[in-house]
Amino acid sequence: MSRTTLHDVQLWDGTWTWCYGFRDGLPVWKWGTAPAGLVTKSQLWEQRLRRRRGQDPFGLLVFRKRGCGEQVGELFRIDLALPSRRMSARWRASIEAMGRAHRTCRRCGSEFENYVPTSTWKCWECMQTTGDFGAPPGVELEPTGAPVAA
Ligand SMILES: [Zn+2]
Repeated sequence: MSRTTLHDVQLWDGTWTWCYGFRDGLPVWKWGTAPAGLVTKSQLWEQRLRRRRGQDPFGLLVFRKRGCGEQVGELFRIDLALPSRRMSARWRASIEAMGRAHRTCRRCGSEFENYVPTSTWKCWECMQTTGDFGAPPGVELEPTGAPVAA
């Protein structure tokens, strides 16, 4: 392709825009040039949306990936997508459970705002009380190497 030719394309709401051509009858855009309202499957996923049953792609996103050559992704209308309710509930629950596990001291059971270290699963107070700072056995901790209590 020596010269990029832009083509007119009409969107679902009647407005006209341009694309880089057509493939399989679908307008083609490059990464970053697709009109607002069109997203890839992973962008739908990120926004906790899913395709409506039988929802066909509106266009195609063509981009180059280092080492992989040309990649083609399907673009879907976000206004037709449905909230992925079941997944998001399960997703949220697992995120919350994981976060809670990471914020809870396994010794005193207190829940903290920040994650406790995964080396000890203990809060700072419990680490001080038990002297267990998550160091491998046989390693003496330098006093200066200990973290400063918040
Ligand atoms: Zn604790």
